[in-house]
Amino acid sequence: MGEQQHRTSNNVKVFLRVRPFNDRELKEGTGNTLDCDYRNHVVMLQKPKDKCVGKDTDRKYFQLDYIFAPNATQLDVYRLAAAPLVEQVFDGYNGTIFAYGQTGTGKTYTMTGNYENPELRGIIPNTFTHIFTQIANSSEDRSFIVKVMYLEIYNEEVRDLLGVDPNRRLQIKERTDIGIYVKDLTGFTVDSVESITQLMDRGNKNRITRSTMMNNVSSRSHAVFTIVVETRHRDKNQTTVGKLNLVDLAGSERVNKTGVSGIGLRESGSINQSLLTLGNVIQALVENKSFIPYRNSKLTRLLQDSLGGNSKTAMISMVGPAESDYEETYSTLRYAHKAK
Ligand code: ADP
Ligand code: MG
Repeated sequence: MGEQQHRTSNNVKVFLRVRPFNDRELKEGTGNTLDCDYRNHVVMLQKPKDKCVGKDTDRKYFQLDYIFAPNATQLDVYRLAAAPLVEQVFDGYNGTIFAYGQTGTGKTYTMTGNYENPELRGIIPNTFTHIFTQIANSSEDRSFIVKVMYLEIYNEEVRDLLGVDPNRRLQIKERTDIGIYVKDLTGFTVDSVESITQLMDRGNKNRITRSTMMNNVSSRSHAVFTIVVETRHRDKNQTTVGKLNLVDLAGSERVNKTGVSGIGLRESGSINQSLLTLGNVIQALVENKSFIPYRNSKLTRLLQDSLGGNSKTAMISMVGPAESDYEETYSTLRYAHKAK
């Protein structure tokens, strides 16, 4: 009975990726706050001893669909979390992959990585190779059009990372025939790994430039890289369209902890609002609710046709192992658990 009430949708998978200790943490010799049971996909969160009052231990357990250990490779993550969604795009299904977690836990490493080094390539560049290999190997009665778009949502404002004016605010619109779209967003048709990589690179540079100008915006903005694959089946005179959204989310930390000064309430509010709404949308989907609150944030509104229905979603939650990150790690695990 209880199981039915909290039925897990097969279309939403929640992953956890634990990054290795970094140099600073190793130097400080901070303790480990996590203990993973990789076989059963359960993580135990241990509260640091000095924070436990009156009790010997404070342990919390969280069930995930899969846990990537600190030594998991970029390709391990790609194969399990991303590849199935990319395959489905060719069958006309939409998919979305999110990287969630506090700043410094590996969201950008996981989504983008270092694309000049094949072993360090993240999900986005690995997707390019996957898509164009698939196209090269497909039968002759099929032809393909691949389009890309790259945008950023900051403060509930949408901007084109590939447009001529990266500062221009774009509007989200809806039309009965094509559904939700971003007015004037630039779309590029690409025909090779090289050309799509160049576009990603340009968008990343724009994101970094904006970020530097505006007090490190990138940790507080959502970056959405969208790939649309149109497959024409010449024999059947039929076209299928699948869309994949690859999302590097804003850092989930509370603004007061990062201690960034000069940020208005409006900003901190809207970051939390869109992450909160995303959590609520995913929870509503997982629980098969009839009302899904897509409209409560720009991000979920934009991704509405790629979340729910036949679409597949992978939420990759990123955490650090250090005791000093206990509070943020706890908050990320609760968020991930809500989506399970
Ligand atoms: P975020 O985007 O969440 O703020 P980053 O992706 O920038 O975090 O990662 C912070 C640092 O940690 C980077 O130097 C990155 O290379 C490193 N890092 C993150 N995850 C891993 C990992 N799984 N293995 C090795 N290094 C990692
Ligand atoms: Mg980042």
